Formats: sequence, C-alpha cells, structure tokens
Amino acid sequence: PNSATRTLISKVRVVVRVRPFLSHEIDAKRGHPVSCVSVLDPEIESKDEVTVHLKDQETSRNECYKLDSFFGEEDNNVGQIFLNEVNPLIPGIFRGINATVFAYGATGSGKTYTMQGTDELPGLMSLAMSTVLSMCHSTGSVVEISYYEVYMERCYDLLELVAKEIAVLEDKDGQTHFRGLSRVQVNSMPQFHEAFSCGIQRRKTAHTGLNDVSSRSHGVLVILVSTSSGDGSGAVINGKLNLIDLAGNEDNRRTCNGGKRLQESAKINQSLFALSNVIYALNNNKPRVPYRESKLTRILQDSLGGNSQALMVACLNPGEYQESLRTVSLAARSRHI
Ligand code: ADP
Ligand code: MG
Repeated sequence: PNSATRTLISKVRVVVRVRPFLSHEIDAKRGHPVSCVSVLDPEIESKDEVTVHLKDQETSRNECYKLDSFFGEEDNNVGQIFLNEVNPLIPGIFRGINATVFAYGATGSGKTYTMQGTDELPGLMSLAMSTVLSMCHSTGSVVEISYYEVYMERCYDLLELVAKEIAVLEDKDGQTHFRGLSRVQVNSMPQFHEAFSCGIQRRKTAHTGLNDVSSRSHGVLVILVSTSSGDGSGAVINGKLNLIDLAGNEDNRRTCNGGKRLQESAKINQSLFALSNVIYALNNNKPRVPYRESKLTRILQDSLGGNSQALMVACLNPGEYQESLRTVSLAARSRHI
C-alpha cells in the first residue's frame, strides 16, 4: 500500500494520565502541593473529548487542551486505562491488525510505571500479555515476544545475553523486518516475566557499560501472535502489539545538558517530534506520512497507520507546569483537529 491508502483508516487516540504526588514531594510542614493539572467534567462535553487545564500556580498562567480521555491521580487506575484503552486493541491482533501503545512524557512523569508497573501493580505490558495469553488458550495461537531499545537512532536486541545491534529493513510493502532480532515463545506469565525482566536488567547497562540509559532510549516490547486462519488452507495470520516506553521528553534549555547528554537529548527530541508529525499526518488524513524522519517511526511504519491501531498515553507530573505543558501541547498537536 502506498502512503495515500495507508492514511485512510487510522486515528491515534491520545489520552492523559497524571500521576499522584510522591511521598517525598509532599512537604511535612506545608502539606500537599497543589496540582497544576485539572480537567473539566468530561460529561459536559462529547463522550470522547476532555479538556485538560494546566495552571501555573506561580504566575496563574492557564492553558487548556482537548484530548480523547483523562486518567487522574489515583494510584491504581492502570487497570481502568487497560480496560478502556488497550483491551479493545487486542482482538485485532488475532486478525492481523497491528497495534501500538506509547507512553510519552518527561522523565519522572510515570511512563515506566504505566507500561511496566511494579510487582504489586502490573502495568499495561503485563496486563496486555496476560490477556493475549488467555485468548491464545482458546484460539490455539502462538505467542512470542521481542524486546529491543532504540538509542541514538540505533536498535539493540535486549533478549540477547549481550545487547546486540540489529539492522532494520523494510520491504516494498512497507513491512518492517529486523535482521536477527530474537523472538522468545511465551506460554505463561512466569515465562514472560522471566524473559522480560532479564531484558529490563540489560536495558539498564546495555551498550554503554554502566550508564542507565533507560530514560534516554525508547524501550519496545513486541507481542507477536500467530493464528491459524482456520479455513483449512494452513495459512497463518500474524499480528503484533508494540508497547513502548518512550525516552523522556527533555527541555535542553532547562537541563543545561552538555556534550554526550546534549547529543542524546537532540536525538530524543528529534525522534519524538518525528513521531508526533507521523501521528498528526495520520490523524489529519495528510497525503504523505513522514515515516522516514526517525528510526522509531521507520520501525513502526507497519504498525502505525493503515490497517493498524494506536494509542498514546501522555504522562504528567502534577507539580511540573512547564514540562506538562510541553507534553500536553505535543500530545494535543498529534491529535486530530
Ligand atoms: P518515567 O518512566 O516517566 O521517568 P517513572 O515511571 O519512573 O517515570 O515514575 C517516576 C516515579 O513516580 C517513580 O518513583 C514511580 O514509582 C512513581 N509513580 C509514577 N506513576 C505513579 C502512579 N500512578 N502512582 C504512584 N506512583 C507513581
Ligand atoms: Mg522511565
């Protein structure tokens, strides 16, 4: 399919999640800080639109943005995000319809918490995995996972003992192929946790030796499902769900990054901007979708747009006005008008 036919179907949903204040952010003397993010009652607007208000407590500056849905500061609402936003994408995977879920936001805004979760409170990745597994038991489908990261425009396999750089190729139909990317078959949640937690450990030191680059790289978990077409032809339907913990959206002017960090930041911001351009083009039926502007968007070419579905979860720290403004304005910009 050419880019024109690809743009006909997809709309990318953009929702916001605000994390609660953490205990160390709550001052013993002055008590609870005032959140700079609020939301208008979504009931008074159309069912699928909320207005998110950001208010700077110091200057009283106020901005508002329209988005698809809003999840507030309750700690344990990840189950609700899953049920409302991610679960509906899963049946499509079994019919060959790829899907992608992104967590987007500044460092410390709750992206990893939302995607990976904790031992007590599973994130969207585990919730999706267990739903896929239970559907597989009734359909007889085979599930495999891949886990890789994109750092400085390069792609590294995290399921290998030593993180290995992977070449990414695309064929004339726009399908993405990874040369040598591992796939691990998964039959149960303990198997998933074992493979995935090794990958998470590797992401912390992979290819830089000691430095934890996990907040400066995009981490991509892929759940691949192969389902028999069931028409007796022996054909197999392949679908995949990409679950992505994006690199932190940074403001270089504020963090005064120098040298290596500045280079990293520039690449991160470039790829996040490219991603928002792609989503914007898809959501607004633009004739050309600029997939080639970054490694991440090239990789996701077969899972964004066309016959596929996507969700962006914009994560906010309730105490950071400027940062939240950057995140929400880019998220809202990606959304259809
Ligand atoms: P990011 O990945 O965006 O840099 P994290 O997911 O690491 O941010 O979250 C930053 C901190 O906030 C962590 O200590 C995390 O446990 C905590 N946190 C994030 N979201 C929530 C939430 N919804 N409820 C409780 N704590 C949260
Ligand atoms: Mg993180």
